[in-house]
Amino acid sequence: MATEIVCSECGTDDHLRGTPTADGLIELFCSACGVTFTRDPRPSCAKCGGFDMEAMPQVVVEKSRGSQMSIQGVHREFACRVCDADQIGIKRDGHLPERLRGSQ
Ligand SMILES: [Zn+2]
Ligand SMILES: [Zn+2]
Repeated sequence: MATEIVCSECGTDDHLRGTPTADGLIELFCSACGVTFTRDPRPSCAKCGGFDMEAMPQVVVEKSRGSQMSIQGVHREFACRVCDADQIGIKRDGHLPERLRGSQ
């Protein structure tokens, strides 16, 4: 996982040493300036700051020549169960075939 972690004091990303703590955070020690800080590795919502996130893998598709689409990869996105409830709901419904009940 290549998340960008930089020192909160000096901004370096070269001299950091991470140690997971008991409560699920990561304690980082910067050997460049000697500061210790903690970081929450969980994804959080940019809107409400909550941690109730739902992982939503998105297939990244790019248009190459003409109308051909090529899959570039899968990008992991997180949606907030509070702010993006609609979005999550839509995704879920899309996966469920609706014809099992009462559509005859
Ligand atoms: Zn530093
Ligand atoms: Zn939110």
